[in-house]
Amino acid sequence: ITEAAAAAELHAIAGRPLAAVTGAEIQAPLITGGHVRYANLDCGASAPALSVVSAYLNEILPYYASVHRGAGYASQISTSVYENARSIVRDFVGGRPDDSVIFTRNTTDSLNLLAGCLPLTDGRPDGDVLYLDIEHHANLLPWQGVPHRSIVAAETITGTLDTVRAELEQGGVSLLAVTGASNVTGEILPIRALAALAHQHGARIVVDAAQLAPHRRVDISADGIDYLAFSGHKLYAPFGAGVLVGRPDWLDAGVPHLAGGGAVKEARLDGVSWASGPARHEGGSPNVLGAATLARATQVLAGLDQDRWHAHESAIRSFLVEGLQDIDGVTVHQIFKDSNPETDTIGVVNFSVEGYDAGLVAAYLAAEHGVGLRDGRFCAHPLLKRLGLPSGSLRASFGVGSRLEDAERLLAGIRALRSKGL
Ligand code: PLP
Repeated sequence: ITEAAAAAELHAIAGRPLAAVTGAEIQAPLITGGHVRYANLDCGASAPALSVVSAYLNEILPYYASVHRGAGYASQISTSVYENARSIVRDFVGGRPDDSVIFTRNTTDSLNLLAGCLPLTDGRPDGDVLYLDIEHHANLLPWQGVPHRSIVAAETITGTLDTVRAELEQGGVSLLAVTGASNVTGEILPIRALAALAHQHGARIVVDAAQLAPHRRVDISADGIDYLAFSGHKLYAPFGAGVLVGRPDWLDAGVPHLAGGGAVKEARLDGVSWASGPARHEGGSPNVLGAATLARATQVLAGLDQDRWHAHESAIRSFLVEGLQDIDGVTVHQIFKDSNPETDTIGVVNFSVEGYDAGLVAAYLAAEHGVGLRDGRFCAHPLLKRLGLPSGSLRASFGVGSRLEDAERLLAGIRALRSKGL
């Protein structure tokens, strides 16, 4: 694919010129002097806001006012923008009519919220939370404070389903917590099959969709997902808001996540009647702009032609993986032997360069080539250890506004590193 063809492709998938999709271009300084267009291959950490979303932010900014509490015109508008954002997000994820849509700070916050809502009988937890060793810390650490069990994913996806089934057959699991797509390798997990397994054994499932939602449409009703969490800043909205969508019974009985104004029906000096619904967990003044822009970003993604969107990311990914595999001393990492890179992987590529510390390679690519990518252990220490990468690796991640030229620049940088050294 040429750069022009890639730009035309994006124009077609997004229905807008390239610049309107990606927003302003950043010029990155080079150590050798001068500047170059910044090649952002770190969308998996935080994706740049789409310009339609930034424009929407500016549109609603003048109406910024207290929600739920004020009678004034601006408060009415803010309240309706905020409440509307819930139904937009519910539609985006195929939510059931009675699902709660709770706005949070991010995915981490959403999963911590759910950890406070696990069902109890006579004050004791009804069962364990079960999770795999491949999770991001956001889907590992919130469960440390509740009864939990972890299992090691098998070398294949099919084997992993068997391992999960075997553990569920032991009984006593109330919640299966699983990522939709690995933030380390981009591999997509078989969510529908995992949900069916959980339900067959009397458990529920929560999906950490921080990585999946920005790349694939998720339908929680069709897939049988009980709870779904994701973040706005990875989904082409500005920082600050995330969401938890899911079945209201646990959420309405759980510990209020942020006790305070708005979270109560009645507060007395000797006790409290907590509210139900999203208000129970959203104490204090909510992040109206974060919720509204997150919702606006979901509308843009929902409007993309799914096939072309995936083809665009998959073309850049294949080009990058093939290019990396052709370079001597470069290894591309993957968790599962049976995952199909064409269909089962989002725009994430994990690799390492023999003889070079990952941090040094990342710093070199930034300084000499204007390429931004992530190095380290990606908040997934157990997974990096099992991949044999205890001191970390490199991750290139891209999204709807990424260009083939970004991947070409990364490859040119690695080739130069291999031939000349540092
Ligand atoms: N889960 C996954 C798979 C992630 O990749 C991330 C962030 O990298 C998170 C959870 C946490 O997201 P946040 O930092 O927005 O809470």
